[in-house]
Amino acid sequence: TGGVVVVGASLAGLRVSEALRRLGYDGPLRLVGEEEHLPYDRPPLSKQVLTGDWEVERVALTSAEALAEARIETLLGSRAVAATDSTVTLADDRELNYDHLVVATGASARRWPGAASGGRVHPLRTLDDSVRLRAVLETGGRVVVVGGGFIGLEVAAAARHHGREVTVVEVAAEPLAPVLGVEIGGFFRRLHEAEGVRVRTGTAITRLEELEQLVTVHLADGTELHADHVVVGIGAAPNNAWLVGLGLADGGGVPCDHQGRALDNVWAVGDVAAWHEPAFGDRARHEHWTSAVDQAAVTAAAILGLEPSRPHEPPYFWSTQFDVNFQLVGRPDLATAVTVLERGETDGVPTDRGTVFGFHRADRLVAVATFHSPRRFLKLRRELQLELAAAIANA
Ligand code: FAD
Repeated sequence: TGGVVVVGASLAGLRVSEALRRLGYDGPLRLVGEEEHLPYDRPPLSKQVLTGDWEVERVALTSAEALAEARIETLLGSRAVAATDSTVTLADDRELNYDHLVVATGASARRWPGAASGGRVHPLRTLDDSVRLRAVLETGGRVVVVGGGFIGLEVAAAARHHGREVTVVEVAAEPLAPVLGVEIGGFFRRLHEAEGVRVRTGTAITRLEELEQLVTVHLADGTELHADHVVVGIGAAPNNAWLVGLGLADGGGVPCDHQGRALDNVWAVGDVAAWHEPAFGDRARHEHWTSAVDQAAVTAAAILGLEPSRPHEPPYFWSTQFDVNFQLVGRPDLATAVTVLERGETDGVPTDRGTVFGFHRADRLVAVATFHSPRRFLKLRRELQLELAAAIANA
């Protein structure tokens, strides 16, 4: 038999493979990845790797020895291009038979249309992207960041760390507003402006004109910005087009049940997967580190017909920008209102730092977030977890 084939050799794929072995699976196990690198961690790519605080070796999630010891046969530089209900086809025409297929192909950064790779317009998703971008930030010049989402803001913070002149352009009224609302967006704007980042909101970029020595950024309001380099942070799209033969190529990710099952013997975990979430009664795809890890544990157990030892946790996300740590748990996308639950203060003076936000839908709390209040967050996360567990039990 073909055993288990896991496609996508990153966080989710690695963790499923490791968990299968830990739970006693003894059959063939192949981990297939398009990149040439062994599995590595992405969050530091826009933080410690980009600022130069970390050597790139620190992002490794495993080693060739550990994979060999766990008998995880790892095929790198191999892209899956198609699948049937029993085989995966690789780009070099090899076919892998499987009993169970785990799709862990993650997401790819959306590209600026027409931007050539290797030029002055940069994406940030892979280790190679991050190393290239770090060299750019070290050498100088003006940087324009397209998109005031988490990646864009983290890149802006790293650019300031290197002393670069940096402008973030966001089409919404505030950075992060489409995900977190305008009030929290304002917190991030103030943080960045205080650190010397220019933040231009409410205007779209109509065109990037890449010349030999610079890029001209054309804005809808007629302004032109000149940059030596442009970084594009306009979101990511799930990598599931290759599953069209299985009917799982939906643009919203691979639709799964609450354990990651998409078809009888096909599963999906991590950024590519849209799991059913019993606490909220819908399907959602999260691009969160912890979701990938949690899902991997649940799916590995389910493949083996075991009860997962950990329940599926509510989605959790963090971001670090300058010295501020932002944390969020729950589903802000479902909220109809955001309120300040607790104001931050130092010596009686109100501050942004220490503020706690609640995301509400009708009379239900669906998410909480803290702007640099890690200890408070720990307690709130626990409370929300209990509340959601109760909601699932009552569903
Ligand atoms: P990925 O890490 O995207 O891995 C998918 C892998 O599959 C890739 O290696 C890809 O090459 C491979 N692949 C794709 N298609 C194929 C194919 N057809 N055949 C073979 N292989 C294929 N999350 C947080 O919670 N907090 C953070 O602060 C944070 N920061 C981040 C910063 C950056 C720069 C990035 C990019 C992400 C960040 N994330 C963060 C998100 C987090 O890294 C992801 O949620 C996590 O990497 C998801 O893991 P994954 O294995 O599902 O997908």
